[in-house]
Amino acid sequence: MLTDTAVQSTDERLAIPAITCRLCGSAELRSFLDLGATPPCELFLHAEAAEAPEVTYPLHVRVCDRCLLAQLPQLITPEETFTEYAYFSSFSTSWVEHARRFVGGAVERLGLGPDSFVVEVASNDGYLLQHVVERGIRCLGIEPSVNVGEAAREKGVPTLTAFLTPETGAAVRAEHGGADLVCLNNVYAHMPDVVGFTEGLRSLVADDGWVSIEVQHLLTLVERTQFDTIYHEHFQYYTLLTGQRALAAGGLTLVDVELLDTHGGSIRMWARPSEVAGEPSERVREVLAAEEAAWLHTPEGHDGFAHTVSRVRDDLVAFLIEARRAGKRVVGYGAPGKGNSSEIFDYLPVNGDLIADACQPLAKEGRMQAFRHRGFWQPADTVKERTALEAAYQGGTRPWMLWEEPERDPLQAAIAALNDAAIER
Ligand SMILES: [Zn+2]
Repeated sequence: MLTDTAVQSTDERLAIPAITCRLCGSAELRSFLDLGATPPCELFLHAEAAEAPEVTYPLHVRVCDRCLLAQLPQLITPEETFTEYAYFSSFSTSWVEHARRFVGGAVERLGLGPDSFVVEVASNDGYLLQHVVERGIRCLGIEPSVNVGEAAREKGVPTLTAFLTPETGAAVRAEHGGADLVCLNNVYAHMPDVVGFTEGLRSLVADDGWVSIEVQHLLTLVERTQFDTIYHEHFQYYTLLTGQRALAAGGLTLVDVELLDTHGGSIRMWARPSEVAGEPSERVREVLAAEEAAWLHTPEGHDGFAHTVSRVRDDLVAFLIEARRAGKRVVGYGAPGKGNSSEIFDYLPVNGDLIADACQPLAKEGRMQAFRHRGFWQPADTVKERTALEAAYQGGTRPWMLWEEPERDPLQAAIAALNDAAIER
């Protein structure tokens, strides 16, 4: 465990240049995957800006030789991203259902009742805590985005507008008492000051309480070649081992883990204040063993991924050339924000006329999303196109729904599906 080197003051941590490890401070970082430079996700341009120069940021993930944390330098700040966050979790009914099941499981597991206190960090619009309120359990959301937090309060979910820091955590604890459960979903990768953030979690949780963290799993990212899930807002990419080390740096000890299908493959880490944690579960040992078997517990074990990804690109380019020569027309179909910060498209060669158009749903207020801007093409604006897409969908050929086939190699699945469904106009 390398936590002794991570105990630094906030000032010291912020003084470290971007190319040193944000967890242990080591300057020994190796390249894991360099995707070039792309525009930030969630940056919406007005149509008149399409021809103007556009700012891009390097997307180069490095792995620390010492503590193995995979990380992106902090080039954008969470404050830029989250203060006016456009995403409302409740828009996704499956995600709300996921949260409801989590709350039910946590209540049972921890024996939470009317006297308990639950805190969610980055609680968004109350999609999760509403289920805690329903059960008559005291709770508080901590949410940096003003407009999203307001939506939670309207649902009756008490919400504090703030970023979690050790100071915020201590203030909440002083006012409400320590939390029996602190939970956070898909936020542990978004906070570049991972040590300060973890200390904030420790200051929130009661001395005999629990912390639950859902975060994308580097093991499945590697196994399924999910390089399109790498984007500027994800500063860290965790194995269970590096998650365990990050928790330890803030005074928390990993005690259990669950494997989830969310976001292409996630882990839910259960942690407790180190003083009361005890031994980790058998499941922790199993997941660590799986990571070790995939060579992710050594620096060198991370070296092959870039080669795998470049092979994906080569195969995709070969397919696109072949399709063009065959007179076929290939279009891109709408993608989530991190998809159209355009890892795929920006990763193609510069003479990228291989994809005729990319359909992007027009964003609110008529703005378009960060992309190589060559206009828009709506794939369903004629009966013929819509019928073809619907037939593909009904027939089970859904090249845009890669998440439905996690067991297949994603590139081969995409190529096969595109081959089947290429629409000639
Ligand atoms: Zn490190």
